[in-house]
Amino acid sequence: MAELTKVFLDEDEIPTHWYNITADLPTPPPPHLHPGTQQPLQAEDLAALFPAGLIEQELSTERWIEIPEKVREIYRLWRPSPLHRARRLEQALGTTARIYYKYEGESPVGSHKTNSAVPQAFYNREAGRMRLTTETGAGQWGSALAFATQIFGQSCEVWQVRSTFDSKPYRRILMETYGASVTASPSDATQAGRALRERFPDTPGSLGMAISEAIEVAASDPGASYALGSVLNHVTLHQSVIGQEAIKQLAKFGEEAPDFLFACAGGGSNLAGISFPFLRENIEGRMNVDVVACEPAAAPSLTEGEYRYDFGDSSQMTPLLKMYTLGADFVPDPVHAGGLRYHGMAPLVSHAYHEGLLRAIAVKQREAFAAGVEFARAEGIVPASESNHAIAGALRQARQAAEDGTSPVILIGVSGSGQLDLPAYAEYLSGNMLDA
Ligand SMILES: *Cc1c(COP(=O)(O)O)cnc(C)c1O
Repeated sequence: MAELTKVFLDEDEIPTHWYNITADLPTPPPPHLHPGTQQPLQAEDLAALFPAGLIEQELSTERWIEIPEKVREIYRLWRPSPLHRARRLEQALGTTARIYYKYEGESPVGSHKTNSAVPQAFYNREAGRMRLTTETGAGQWGSALAFATQIFGQSCEVWQVRSTFDSKPYRRILMETYGASVTASPSDATQAGRALRERFPDTPGSLGMAISEAIEVAASDPGASYALGSVLNHVTLHQSVIGQEAIKQLAKFGEEAPDFLFACAGGGSNLAGISFPFLRENIEGRMNVDVVACEPAAAPSLTEGEYRYDFGDSSQMTPLLKMYTLGADFVPDPVHAGGLRYHGMAPLVSHAYHEGLLRAIAVKQREAFAAGVEFARAEGIVPASESNHAIAGALRQARQAAEDGTSPVILIGVSGSGQLDLPAYAEYLSGNMLDA
């Protein structure tokens, strides 16, 4: 056992159900509200944007939701994902901590996002919706949805935040390789885009703006749906395969439970995915894991945002979501390289944070990339820009353990690969990265 470096599970150990934390939270999460009536959202309010299968999941209070066999079959292309013991990183740090990481970078597009893109495409296909629209920032979600829709024979239209459309062409090429069409946002193709361009002629764009455009197109065509890559309950639900696998894999390493769990938090989906199954163990008294959300100091929704109802987009078309938010008009600084730029945080993550079930830290991008480089030099894997924030949080804890002479078990969610984030690494290595 002591020599194990990584644990793979068999394909038949891919979870059969998604885990819905709503069933186990000590207090019920506040409902989404209809933007007009301010009343709790009903299934029919979402019907123009989402298929019935996903709406049911969005509003569900069931603890376990069965994963369709077809989705499990596609998950087999890359799941179960490996859990590594970071032995070489431990040595490099001189830490007495035992460090593990769950690596989602081996999915076809290099991140956890396919875990939700595939079921989203599946439920839309079931409902006969053959045209999907979405937004993307750096392109991880757009490429995940482009991959998934292509499997089910659907078309995919992606609005990409203009600053990354121009500066990061590789994921656009990936999306186009899978057959998606990609438009820089804000664009002239939608009313929302034209209005935003009139108000903010030189805007670099934002996720909130791109969401407005994708929603407008989906809402105007009954054969189309909108797909969101994070934030919503059904997305956090799909990502729960990550934490369920990690619990089994830690046991195979002979570990009862992690003492600390670090995951990066943009919209909150990978954090929710890895941590909610562990929070269930905490709630039921079997574990006592200290879950730490690591967000970028440049978009600090949990550590500096307000907990209130807000829109998910800039044009106030989405339902009202109770979440930690920087305001739907938030436009992140385009010089920030670390990804994770959404203005809000998943309502379920926000509620769990508000209830004290997890805590949050903000990490500046230079510290994040220093950690990512240290990780790459020890473990070989170059982590995604976003994942670096989680690694930075874990390194703080590992160094603390070395000082204190304690031996905690630290689990890191490494949400993706950084092979397409190399320009950000170049910026860091050249010393030009701002300490924001
Ligand atoms: C999209 C993305 C994130 C941020 O989204 P969350 O919903 O917070 O998980 C983090 N890491 C990677 C690799 C991503 O692609």
